[in-house]
Amino acid sequence: MTLEKSRQMYEKAKTLIPGGVSSPVRAIKPYPFYTSSADGSKIKDLDGNEYIDYCLAYGPEILGHNHPVIKDAIRAQLDKGWLYGTPTELEVTLAEKVASYYPSIDMLRFVSTGTEATMSALRLARGFTGKKKFVKIEGGFHGAHDAVLVKAGSGATTLGEPDSLGIPADFTKYTLQAPYNDIEAMAELVESNRDDLAAVIIEPVLGNVGPVLPKPGYLEELRKLTRENDVLLIFDEVITGFRLAMGGAQEYFGVVPDMTTLGKIVGGGLPIGVFGGRKEIMEMIAPSGPVYQAGTFSGSPCSVAAGIAMLDYLKQENVHEKLNTTGDYLRNALSEIVSDEGLDYTVCGIASMFKIFFGAEPYNYQDVLKCDKEGYLAFFHRMLASGIFLPPSQFETNFVSAAHSEEDIERTLEAYKENL
Ligand SMILES: *Cc1c(COP(=O)(O)O)cnc(C)c1O
Repeated sequence: MTLEKSRQMYEKAKTLIPGGVSSPVRAIKPYPFYTSSADGSKIKDLDGNEYIDYCLAYGPEILGHNHPVIKDAIRAQLDKGWLYGTPTELEVTLAEKVASYYPSIDMLRFVSTGTEATMSALRLARGFTGKKKFVKIEGGFHGAHDAVLVKAGSGATTLGEPDSLGIPADFTKYTLQAPYNDIEAMAELVESNRDDLAAVIIEPVLGNVGPVLPKPGYLEELRKLTRENDVLLIFDEVITGFRLAMGGAQEYFGVVPDMTTLGKIVGGGLPIGVFGGRKEIMEMIAPSGPVYQAGTFSGSPCSVAAGIAMLDYLKQENVHEKLNTTGDYLRNALSEIVSDEGLDYTVCGIASMFKIFFGAEPYNYQDVLKCDKEGYLAFFHRMLASGIFLPPSQFETNFVSAAHSEEDIERTLEAYKENL
């Protein structure tokens, strides 16, 4: 296997694009493969190598790449033009569908990315409640805007320190953090800040360091706690939305937040974000209310058309049932391999999300950090050489798509056996 063309492209890319990539996690060391095309479960690089893809664009490609139904929807839209700057019937149709699946969503607005969705949702939560602070979960990722780029400090709940240069500490002083799966720590933080606290924002399943699952009862207790203290609960379902079920984690776990953010799958693989919630909250958004939010590409016709096709296909074909069965099979088989090899690793996951943690089962961010990162990276490279593309970090979820065949799965399990 050669990666010579990718290596050369990387040398050129580095001089034009910082790190040679358009988003940091793509910067595989020593250099990433540059993709030429992708179809179904497979992704191909410039040198003609083909990999079975479990990264799947970090979540959106739940049907696999280049799905004909989504492609047809985009093509049909292309013939009618792809940007108007005016409202369309398409966005009303998609809004109605999304609202019908998400019990927390009466009304919603479309934006272009998950980052914009959480940024706007937090502004709206602050505008609606008239309060300044919010709590996020340590290790929770909500995109790349200032207020949420706050890393875990110690294991204790701490005031947020910005995670990046260029973010004044003043900008994150209203960002509080609590460890995942620890309702006592959360209760202390919420109760002592309730008069200033607008919202708690949480990935119901920690996806960006995970998947790390909620302990039984955790989300229910969080719902009760936030309600009793007049604090809004925001589920960031950018990964879990249309992944765990049509109604996301809120359907899967039966816990209804006040607001929800969506992205990734809901655009059928084209750029999109959604934030939504109860009517009286959403009506605070401009032009119906005083909380400002806007975007040139918001509700972009191709993204919305692809999203409608995606949702209809997922529903009509009952895709989640098949996918979740594949996920169960994969997790069980991986657990067997891990135990046969006598490794103290842990297979985690839910629905069509999975991952081997190189360490003990994690319940929060601090646990995840104890896993063997370097060991995982060595393993990642062996898998790549075996034609399997996993996310290039111990801290990213692996996904399986509806396009993965039995043969793909068996080949993948063989590679795990060989490379672990
Ligand atoms: C990916 C992600 C985001 C950010 O979405 P972008 O479209 O990359 O801006 C926000 N929240 C969660 C949970 C995500 O996984």
